[in-house]
Amino acid sequence: MKKILVANRGEIALRIIRAIQELGYAAVAIYETPDAEALHIRTADEAIWIGNGPRCDYLNIEKVVLAAKKAGADAIHPGYGFLAENPDFSQACEEAGITFIGPSAEVIHNLGDKVIARRIMQEAGIPMVPGTPNLAAGEEGVKQALAFTAQHGYPVMLKATAGGGGRGIRRIENEKQLKAEIPVARAEAKAAFNNDAVYLEKVVLDPKHVEVQIIGDKYGNYVHLGTRDCSIQRRNQKLVEIAPSLIQDQGLLGRICATAIKAAQASNYTNAGTVEFLVDKDHNFYFMEINTRLQVEHTVTEMITGIDIVRTQIKLALGRPLSFRQEDVHLRGHAIEMRINAEDPQNNFMPEGGKTVSVYRSPGGYGVRLDGFVYQGFTIPEVYDSLLVKLTVFGFSWNETVDRLRRCLNNFVIVGPKTTIPFYLNLVVDPDFKEGDFTTSYLDTHPQLLEYKEQDDEGNKLARLIAEIHYKRENPYAI
Ligand code: ADP
Ligand code: ADP
Ligand code: MG
Repeated sequence: MKKILVANRGEIALRIIRAIQELGYAAVAIYETPDAEALHIRTADEAIWIGNGPRCDYLNIEKVVLAAKKAGADAIHPGYGFLAENPDFSQACEEAGITFIGPSAEVIHNLGDKVIARRIMQEAGIPMVPGTPNLAAGEEGVKQALAFTAQHGYPVMLKATAGGGGRGIRRIENEKQLKAEIPVARAEAKAAFNNDAVYLEKVVLDPKHVEVQIIGDKYGNYVHLGTRDCSIQRRNQKLVEIAPSLIQDQGLLGRICATAIKAAQASNYTNAGTVEFLVDKDHNFYFMEINTRLQVEHTVTEMITGIDIVRTQIKLALGRPLSFRQEDVHLRGHAIEMRINAEDPQNNFMPEGGKTVSVYRSPGGYGVRLDGFVYQGFTIPEVYDSLLVKLTVFGFSWNETVDRLRRCLNNFVIVGPKTTIPFYLNLVVDPDFKEGDFTTSYLDTHPQLLEYKEQDDEGNKLARLIAEIHYKRENPYAI
């Protein structure tokens, strides 16, 4: 019997625990104090408290590895975020004799650095937009940047080399802005990623974000599980994800998938990963980055392939070869995931953490999948990200899938925090969305999606009050 520690929280911890238990293994959860009421603790076979946090203990390599040793875990699944893309964590697991469920420390290191990743891909002949190496410090770096814009023009993207999660990306329109923003971007990158390196990339105008799920075993076998469109974003971070991409040109999608496999081979990739591309109006595509972990949106790929990606990840990490070949992978139907976040879309998607979910009623039925972790009466810790539940729907045709999604959103009731649901209710009836016509500029060009009236009637207010009283009685020390 194997034991696997899940070094994460929220919906993804639950997702991974389920796969571990289905394999007949024991799942070990870890948690910080603000998560003491969280469902992943109760669902796991064992739970270990690792500190008061917030965040610092989930990010503490020594503590997490110690917890795994204490529990006698054979392997660690990092999920996404937190330590998932930290090469030192992968290394520390290896040194402790614990299998890290993901690629090697070297692969994570190389691909987590956008400039090194671009160099590897360039050498492999993978198409990409022109860019600079890391900008030198001070005036030298500004000169380098101006030389780049003199050659390629504006706009350009100023990116943190170690960035992720949509953070550390700035679109620069002119020289004045470039000069002003380089030091600001550096300082921000230093604070967020402990690395002040930044570089420039040419902007692809109005692109589609198209990514490919790839999987490699330890014996050099690679498969891809088709494409996902993740163009609908806010602040360069995904909100809605679709599989497969709705681009009609199957030849183009085939070339993108083949390029993704080439990128995986060029970086000696193992386990599950995602190769991200931007596709322009003329159907040129450009490598953007490889995420060396499970993605939030892996669910849509699972729905259209029938392949359990987390189960596969675990088996491959334990040394099994891939149990299927490319010709065994068949894409069927369409899947859409919406990230239901505790956020106020009308207030620039500001997080709504700290609130109690006083009413929670979720949709169900054929083709509906929910990956969440909140329940009625649960107070959302303020200190973590705002994702509450992923609603993923599957349908045979695109129209059927959109209809199902609309029905599910109408059936979804979350009272307490403001959520992205009312915004999505506008989105699913938008003609451009229904036509599959969207790029990463979609939110900017569709401000009407933010026009709705929050439902906050007396009944909701009363329900919220009751839930808060209930919570305070059960948690007398809560503030
Ligand atoms: P992260 O590591 O934060 O995911 P990415 O490099 O993947 O950063 O970029 C995130 C998003 O930012 C993309 O999906 C896209 O919308 C936008 N973006 C990034 N680079 C470019 C670019 N060169 N041109 C246009 N949009 C870009
Ligand atoms: P199992 O445990 O059923 O022997 P694996 O765990 O090795 O299968 O496979 C991991 C995932 O890959 C599962 O979700 C499974 O459904 C999928 N899979 C296995 N074999 C095939 C195949 N021949 N074609 C497509 N998918 C497959
Ligand atoms: Mg990305």
